[in-house]
Amino acid sequence: MEVPTRRPLVAGNWKMNGDKPLVDLMQNRLEQADLKHLDVVICPPFPYFGLFKSTMTLGAQNVSSFDSGAHTGEISAKMLQEFGCRYVIVGHSERRADNHESNQEVALKVATALNMKLMPILCVGESESIRDSGKLFDYITAQIDAVIKQVGIAKFSDLVLAYEPIWAIGTGKTASPAQAQEVHQFIREHLAKKNADVAANIKILYGGSVKGSNAQELFSQKDVDGGLIGGASLDPQDFLSICLAAKQ
Ligand code: PEP
Repeated sequence: MEVPTRRPLVAGNWKMNGDKPLVDLMQNRLEQADLKHLDVVICPPFPYFGLFKSTMTLGAQNVSSFDSGAHTGEISAKMLQEFGCRYVIVGHSERRADNHESNQEVALKVATALNMKLMPILCVGESESIRDSGKLFDYITAQIDAVIKQVGIAKFSDLVLAYEPIWAIGTGKTASPAQAQEVHQFIREHLAKKNADVAANIKILYGGSVKGSNAQELFSQKDVDGGLIGGASLDPQDFLSICLAAKQ
């Protein structure tokens, strides 16, 4: 079988951070660089969307599982699409924890996003206690299988996966390249049991304390196709270094 070339992707998740000046700083920094070898996505808080030029690829940090209606504070996939949003982070561990998003709720959000032709960045990953208990692979399998059950394996060709171990998010404690590769390979093999083509082509990002200084080693792993970047995506120079570290 031909080895697929997966174009790298680096997405910056600003979370509830950033301000108007950062929009300009980030845009200027990225515009000056040669980033033809990868896709770069910025996921800012919603109010900043309109401040970005149309040349920037934007992602949302959340989407409602409902299409419309009495859901105060929620934003629909159609609204995101209307404003030029292309990607949406779904199932981030902070939302799973803070907003009690279950695997089923995450699966519904993926389905809603796909219906509106948004590309979900589906986050999965274990806590330290789950890893220590030896249930890591069962846990991740359940997170992925809930989405397969909802949308079907074929639809995974229209989404991106992000492996984000919770113990590495915002802690400065990055997974080692070998730890990341082990889980990415497991995910790809798990998907391959259902659809080899989808598994070979899907992008699997790593997220968890990625910085300019450790990105290259992580991204050089066979099954790591880029990163979902939190803290370092607020520093234009560090974020650019991470983008430049993506496989050429
Ligand atoms: C994240 O929130 O998705 C993330 C990976 O954060 P950080 O890079 O800060 O660990």
